[in-house]
Amino acid sequence: MRVGILALQGAFVEHAAMLDRLGVDHFEIRQRRDLDVPFDALILPGGESTTMGKLLRDLDLFEPLQTSILQGLPVFGTCAGLILLAREVEGGIPCFGTMDICARRNAYGRQLGSFHTEQPFDGLGSIPMTFIRAPYIRSAGPDVRILARVDGRIVAARQDNMLATAFHPELTESLAVHRYFLDMALSLAA
Ligand code: GLN
Repeated sequence: MRVGILALQGAFVEHAAMLDRLGVDHFEIRQRRDLDVPFDALILPGGESTTMGKLLRDLDLFEPLQTSILQGLPVFGTCAGLILLAREVEGGIPCFGTMDICARRNAYGRQLGSFHTEQPFDGLGSIPMTFIRAPYIRSAGPDVRILARVDGRIVAARQDNMLATAFHPELTESLAVHRYFLDMALSLAA
């Protein structure tokens, strides 16, 4: 399996480190020609969703990536990456808009901008979750499976080939969510 990591901005190196630990081949997506060699899955990292959205368009990456996602490319968005996937964004502008969720941006306000917790994730037991100026999922359509909540708010969900977490599993020791994503990608390919 070969995983492309969007590397325009933000926390992409940390995702690469997780995939290294899992022994999975990966590469950075920085420009259009990086998409020339086929790949099996995509990671949209945390960072600043407005900046990433603008760079995606400026670099002509928006259309090919959106088309691939719509055609079923497995994609995992963390934090800003979740916002890029959301159909609706409160406090921001939708980007790919492929996932039937409404994301509320910077949802935890100033004081609670960053925090760490351990909470149950569907099928994985309790896992560490690091939140940094994170969104949460305010509402989700009927095809979206809710995978985790913190204080009643949805922080992880899946719809078909799309996985999104409001937190950063790549900033924790746990490989569980990355493993979950790779299993999901493998089962979609089967
Ligand atoms: N607050 C950022 C945004 O709205 C997301 C923060 C993150 O990815 N850690 O884009």
